[in-house]
Amino acid sequence: MKFYSADIVFPICSTPLKDGIVVMDNSGVVIDVFENIAFLNNALQIQIEPSVIEKFHGILTPGFINSHCHLELSHLKGRISKHNKLTGFIKELISVRKQGENEEVLDAIKSAEKNMFNDGIVAIGDISNTSITFPIKNESDLLYHTFIEVFDLSELNTEKTWNTAKELEGMLKSNNRNSKCSISPHSPYSVTPFLFQKINKNKASLISIHNQETESENILFETGSGDLKSFFEATGNNLVHIKANGKIQYRTMYHY
Ligand SMILES: [Zn+2]
Repeated sequence: MKFYSADIVFPICSTPLKDGIVVMDNSGVVIDVFENIAFLNNALQIQIEPSVIEKFHGILTPGFINSHCHLELSHLKGRISKHNKLTGFIKELISVRKQGENEEVLDAIKSAEKNMFNDGIVAIGDISNTSITFPIKNESDLLYHTFIEVFDLSELNTEKTWNTAKELEGMLKSNNRNSKCSISPHSPYSVTPFLFQKINKNKASLISIHNQETESENILFETGSGDLKSFFEATGNNLVHIKANGKIQYRTMYHY
């Protein structure tokens, strides 16, 4: 057994403990957490010498979860302007996402992963539109659930979108590590009811959806117009699957 303590221990299951003690078995599994050495000795019916306890300054906490990550876009850090509204963000993202040589993209992914590890992140919900992160996930000590993200904007694109997602799912499932994944909708406005039905029939264990990220999304669902509508119309997508009914989208999102 190993014993660790810190100025503050966060057990999660109770309030933080000043000078709390974490007990681990030799394989690194947490067995218990105690308020102090007296509680520990009493519970384990042993006398632990204080010198056996490794003490850290700062806090001791369970690993953090990054519940929404786009690892494959790591090379775009700092390349997209801030405060540019959702439409500005999408426009810039489309124009820059293909920038960068494969090597540069992979290096940025590895570096972002290292940063997460150094920041205490142990598990990640990662949105993927491509397979570029799959080999890295196969080698990683971090734990991933991959959301294979789909959007079609028009039912003309649904079959192709779905087939690509299923191909990605098959590729990731052949990983020895981090093969857990689910096909997940991008947002209420970019996914047609036809695609939502397919996602539903596929019985995803988990989904992650971009929802109400901006006022223009609410306006789109309330009125059928606005910045987001104009943006998609200008790119040739009329969003005919969205029927305005005067309610903001969380009430009108498809029950799929
Ligand atoms: Zn996202």
